[in-house]
Amino acid sequence: MKIGFIGLGNMGNPMAVNLANAGHEVAGFDMAEVSVSGVTLTGSGADAAKDTDIVITMLPNGQILRSVANEIIPAMNEGAVWVDCSTVDVDSARAVADMALAAGVLAVDAPVSGGIGGASAGTLTFMAGGSAEAFEKARPLFDIMGQKAVHCGDAGAGQAAKICNNMILGVTMIATCEAFALADKLGLDRQKMFDVVSTSSGYSWTMNAYCPAPGIGPQSPADNGYQPGFAAELMLKDLRLSQQAAESSDADTPMGMMATELYQQFVESEDGLGLDFSAMLPRFEKRGRN
Ligand code: NAD
Repeated sequence: MKIGFIGLGNMGNPMAVNLANAGHEVAGFDMAEVSVSGVTLTGSGADAAKDTDIVITMLPNGQILRSVANEIIPAMNEGAVWVDCSTVDVDSARAVADMALAAGVLAVDAPVSGGIGGASAGTLTFMAGGSAEAFEKARPLFDIMGQKAVHCGDAGAGQAAKICNNMILGVTMIATCEAFALADKLGLDRQKMFDVVSTSSGYSWTMNAYCPAPGIGPQSPADNGYQPGFAAELMLKDLRLSQQAAESSDADTPMGMMATELYQQFVESEDGLGLDFSAMLPRFEKRGRN
């Protein structure tokens, strides 16, 4: 297939490399100077999108996505497929899908989980929104870049799934960290706490697979000085998207709101910027009741 790939940053770069390695002809564009093995770089997003079967975007936010949409949709062939893998707000995802549809372009919002490691290894999970036809056309590329793709529903459903998942993740990480901090103050050994909780009703991905306490459970960023992993500021971005979505759909999400406030404080007023999102544990460790 002829593929256009726009946004060749931490995630987009290895994803584009995997497509090129699988034998596809990939034209790429990024605002920044990049080099991507096997990918022919172009001078603009429109040039990368022109005369392709599929265009993939991997961009920082909804505002940039909307401006790139204005640039690439007019350049794309009717019947071509646009797969946006960025994590953005549901409203932007739906707005650009409508623009694409009006121009005869098939659109899929397909945010990912799996991080930079998953992007390099080709083991991402895609959560997709759009028509069944668009999803089926994109599926061969999901199979190269990832290990699983779930068709979640119409336009925006992929972003909805991503935002809901990450709201649970943020809330659960905070709950796990504050429970460890309480256990410390109660004199409970952390390993014993892990042994009990990881096989009891308090178990979770954050406890069992990504334990925020160093030296406990499987290897995680806690064992590497809280170097990300998944940075606290990216968690804050996703939590903000959850609150934007809750606001526009009139959903009551008090725990999501509280998690957003805590990560905002951690990233903007404390020392959380640049640390993994599990570094909430040393934050709670240092604090008292107020
Ligand atoms: P990044 O900042 O490394 O990459 C984004 C790229 O987009 C940059 O290279 C930037 O120069 C480029 N860009 C910005 N505006 C552009 C424009 N108008 N035209 C062309 N290129 C433009 O970010 P990333 O870590 O690769 O993340 C990309 C998306 O994936 C984000 O939405 C993020 O939330 C999501 N995501 C990231 C991770 C992760 O672990 N990094 C995991 C899951 C999802």
